[in-house]
Amino acid sequence: MFRFEMIAVGKELLIGRTLNTNAQWVGRRLAGIGTMIHELTTVDDQLGEIASALRGSLDRRPDFVVVCGGLGPTHDDMTLRGVADGLGLRLKTSRIALLMIREHYSGRGLKGIEMTGSRRKMALFPEGATPVRNPKGTAPGARITRGTTVIFCLPGVPLEMREMFAESVEPAVRESVGRVHRSSATIRLEGIFESTLAPILAREVGRHPRAYVKSHPRGVREGVSRIELDIAVTGPSKENTEREVREVASAILRAAAAEGGTVKSARGRAIRGV
Ligand code: ATP
Repeated sequence: MFRFEMIAVGKELLIGRTLNTNAQWVGRRLAGIGTMIHELTTVDDQLGEIASALRGSLDRRPDFVVVCGGLGPTHDDMTLRGVADGLGLRLKTSRIALLMIREHYSGRGLKGIEMTGSRRKMALFPEGATPVRNPKGTAPGARITRGTTVIFCLPGVPLEMREMFAESVEPAVRESVGRVHRSSATIRLEGIFESTLAPILAREVGRHPRAYVKSHPRGVREGVSRIELDIAVTGPSKENTEREVREVASAILRAAAAEGGTVKSARGRAIRGV
């Protein structure tokens, strides 16, 4: 079974200074190609924490691990060293990464810029790692293969992370996942409590084991309970996934209507006309 893990590095994520929007973005992107983040870990900027998170992840033999954040020049950017520790590898200056860093500065009109220790630090890679182009920033990413797992280290800056994910990670994930279609729908219901809806949802999930059905309570306004319902099916055939979303949605809506629930809005190609 395909498995994707993510390790987010940064104290700012753990002390509530920064919201982990990178994980949200990656999760959404993966859902779009029929998969997901199967496990997400967030760790402090500490060598031991990064190394042990990576070892823990590799024990589960995922297809991909994306480690994000901590590739820059500052004292707390230590991801590549932590990853090297976790893999039992030495750090070595990557000539290609050094070149990428130089090119980044010269591309910004900073020709002949001095390669200070802080700048060279961004080219210190675990031995055998392949640098990954960073079109939007300075620090290159890294790609490392360990057994059947591909590890990508990407910067934390959201703009850089997204660009590199789309350019370098996603094509590899797509190839590994194969051609998968995901059909989904979102329905807003009113006038039914989540506890009333619960057995209806459980019955439909029992009938359709590959369907993802999730209710999001949106509060009670003027005595009327409001719920948003997500339904998604992933599978090799677009026609079949759309049909299954339609079947699940129709069955839930019929049962909800019998309990007094009404549909406020419905989004999703699969359920047009339901
Ligand atoms: P830099 O070259 O900027 O140092 P970096 O790879 O070292 O890049 P960090 O220093 O870890 O990245 O983070 C850079 C910025 O991106 C910070 O403002 C940080 O809060 C933000 N950031 C880091 N990780 C995430 C994340 N998971 N979600 C959203 N923002 C993040």
